[in-house]
Amino acid sequence: MTRILITGITGQDGSYLADRLLDEGAEVHGLVRDGDETARELEQRHPEIVFHEGDLAQPESAAQLVRALAPDEVYNLAGISSVAESWRRPVLTGLVTGVAVTALLDAASERPGVRFFQASSSEIFGSPTVSPQNESTPLCPTSPYGVTKAYAHQIAQLYRARGTFVSTAILYNHESPRRPETFVTRKITAAAARIAAGLQDTLELGDLSVERDWGWAPDYVDAILLATRHREPDDYVIATGRAHSIAQFVDAAFAAVGIDDASPYVVSSDELIRPSEISTMLGDASKAHDVLGWSPTVEFDELVRRMVHADVELLAAAEREH
Ligand code: NAP
Repeated sequence: MTRILITGITGQDGSYLADRLLDEGAEVHGLVRDGDETARELEQRHPEIVFHEGDLAQPESAAQLVRALAPDEVYNLAGISSVAESWRRPVLTGLVTGVAVTALLDAASERPGVRFFQASSSEIFGSPTVSPQNESTPLCPTSPYGVTKAYAHQIAQLYRARGTFVSTAILYNHESPRRPETFVTRKITAAAARIAAGLQDTLELGDLSVERDWGWAPDYVDAILLATRHREPDDYVIATGRAHSIAQFVDAAFAAVGIDDASPYVVSSDELIRPSEISTMLGDASKAHDVLGWSPTVEFDELVRRMVHADVELLAAAEREH
């Protein structure tokens, strides 16, 4: 039985990955922080997961878990995953999303045959001068999150050059009903559902012209598995190759609840405009397509519709409980 360690198992990607790996009969272990409520929920859904308490803010103790567990595959999905949060907590971001990666990699490299996956991010490109970006695009990050992810990406490449089996995916934004409302996409879909139900009046947003290459999270988890299990370790951009603006996201979300014109509900807030916001991100996933056979399966409109319908369903479930 393949023994797997997932860091970030309570997050969006980690939970989808756990679903997939349990389906294939793997022995799944997850690193979780002390008192994590989401871990308790995950445990109820999947009692077969073995949870280990730990915190990447103490990199050596997390590395010790890798040594003690001797997993066949390590998926490092944990970290401070929001640009805004990384500005609020830049030092902690460096430790958890950066230095801890070196500690985990170092521990994994001691065991021949272990496969390691590192979740890189399109934010390592910062405000790119080329579009779309691919694996050769120069790194030029513009936030503590991006800088830290760039460090982790490059340390992963260094360990690979020294013989460790480590693959990375340079992930572009990917969404699902499991995204928290602290992310703009889920904030929009949850608001559309509430506004349609008469439970909310307005939706406050920053710059609506910002464009992102948004994909469906379970597709990206497929790519993570394909990259980790390919015969050679490597780096892969994972993206749809199509960018949409926040305004288009809002329109699609409101259309999904039958509101043709979202403008009366959207309130612009200067406080939500980020000074160093990257205007457009667009990824070129040709390498993942050619080498791994990976392609996204869910189009933008369908992705938004699925998120909105999940939020509508959540409201209906809450209504039934009362
Ligand atoms: P997520 O939902 O924010 O999950 C982050 C995970 O990291 C959570 O399980 C969280 O646990 C854990 N974590 C945070 N701080 C920790 C610490 N100090 N010690 C141990 N665990 C800690 O992220 P995601 O969307 O699944 O993304 C997975 C990975 O892909 C992340 O590394 C992210 O940066 C990267 N990525 C994501 C996207 C995207 O669009 N989703 C795009 C590019 C790259 P708690 O439950 O305790 O908070």
